[in-house]
Amino acid sequence: MASKKAFDLLIKNVRLVRPNAAMVEQGDIAISDGRIAKVAPEIPAASAKTFYDGKGQLAFPGLVDPHMHTGIYSPLAEDALTESRAAAQGGVTSSLNYMRTGGYYLNKGGSYKKFFPEVLDISAGRFHVDYAYHLAPMDKRHIREIPNLINDFGVTSFKIFMFYGGHGLHGRSSNQHEFLMIGEDEKYDIAHFEFVMRGIRKAMGKYPDKADALSLSLHCETAEIMSAYTKIVEEEGKLKGLHAYSAGRPPHSEGLAIFIASYLANETDLPNINLLHLTSRKAVIAALQMAAVFPHIDFRREVTIGHLMLDTDSKAAALAKVNPPIRPREDVDFLWEQLVAGNLDWVCSDHACCKHEMKIDHKKPGNIWLAKSGFGGTEYLLPALITEGRKRGLSFNQMAKLTSYTAARRFGLPSKGDIAEGLDADIVLVDPNDTWTVRAADSESQQGYTPFEGLEMTARVKTTFLRGQRIYDNGEVLGKPVGKYLHRPY
Ligand SMILES: [Zn+2]
Repeated sequence: MASKKAFDLLIKNVRLVRPNAAMVEQGDIAISDGRIAKVAPEIPAASAKTFYDGKGQLAFPGLVDPHMHTGIYSPLAEDALTESRAAAQGGVTSSLNYMRTGGYYLNKGGSYKKFFPEVLDISAGRFHVDYAYHLAPMDKRHIREIPNLINDFGVTSFKIFMFYGGHGLHGRSSNQHEFLMIGEDEKYDIAHFEFVMRGIRKAMGKYPDKADALSLSLHCETAEIMSAYTKIVEEEGKLKGLHAYSAGRPPHSEGLAIFIASYLANETDLPNINLLHLTSRKAVIAALQMAAVFPHIDFRREVTIGHLMLDTDSKAAALAKVNPPIRPREDVDFLWEQLVAGNLDWVCSDHACCKHEMKIDHKKPGNIWLAKSGFGGTEYLLPALITEGRKRGLSFNQMAKLTSYTAARRFGLPSKGDIAEGLDADIVLVDPNDTWTVRAADSESQQGYTPFEGLEMTARVKTTFLRGQRIYDNGEVLGKPVGKYLHRPY
């Protein structure tokens, strides 16, 4: 009689990329009940019910993409299905999405008590990867709801869009109340940001066991600077395309917002601050200066794969419009330097699927001001980071840290982000010697184009395991959506 097999699945013959290790090591991974049961140099094949030959490929922890916008431009029910397929294709196993009331998304206002269950209902059974939501308190009522969001819904991270009070999502705007769907007596301004911070701080006192997992993310741009510069650049009409958009939202608008955000975090004694998508030398320097001035604040500094791969000369032109803007090459090189130096904490996609027919103005396709902001890219996050990162001296271990570990720890996901016993068996196998060219047609995303079109990649995601289940293999998304909602801390 056969003895009882100890493990459900054994992934054999991989090179383990642990985020906190100094090097890549040969090994096997045994999985039981969706969790990693054992990691060792050699585990006998006979000890598992099934085994998978890793063929010497790299095994990264499943990616935690901490900044996505599922459901922003297409109905959430559609976007969840297709964009989480793109995530699985990219080796992403945890998709963390920024969500809010107001224009786009569900296109409605109201309390999160009403709004968020609807989001969760639509999401259930539609994600191919595990998912969670960050929420943005848009008015006073939402601030009062913070403790309930934490306790009842497992939402541990919140967001402020610093420029929304005085500048539209795609350009200048004077109708912010209509866009934000907040009451006439409400203001989405610096005072509101302060009160959001006080609200989170108070919740930390109420739930001390969850305090470490609670944080606030900020999109740092200054509405007044952007509005003034956008007007100047539009009226002068000398700059075009991405150059014009970058000049209209200049880097010091980011730097100033970072100073304001940090000052308020100190004033309100809020220790966990995530500075989202830093794009420029000025933004990164401002963020590092604030970390030196306020050493008791635990800052995280984020960068997107778009800002690392594209510059203002990109052929993608208006298709690469995003907030904050794609910057000139000097800024891109500076971001890489800071990433390699360990001054940036994670790389995200800021995936916001914006289909071509919506992205570009049809009468004036070249007009950057009329294009919509944002694009997808979660499926290229890891291949692009490997391709460009290894040219710049980033180790595989650093890449694992930047794409899973750090964000998992910050956002209340201690069972994600590493290949270690007891953690969820989220694993992505990567062939680091497979050269291919990005073609939007090959993507699982429904976007239909990509600003990364034509870029050559030198690594490819081959297989993605979510909690021990193969959800992507050899160019195919497998099975029905099995992603779970991550009620945090998870
Ligand atoms: Zn975003």
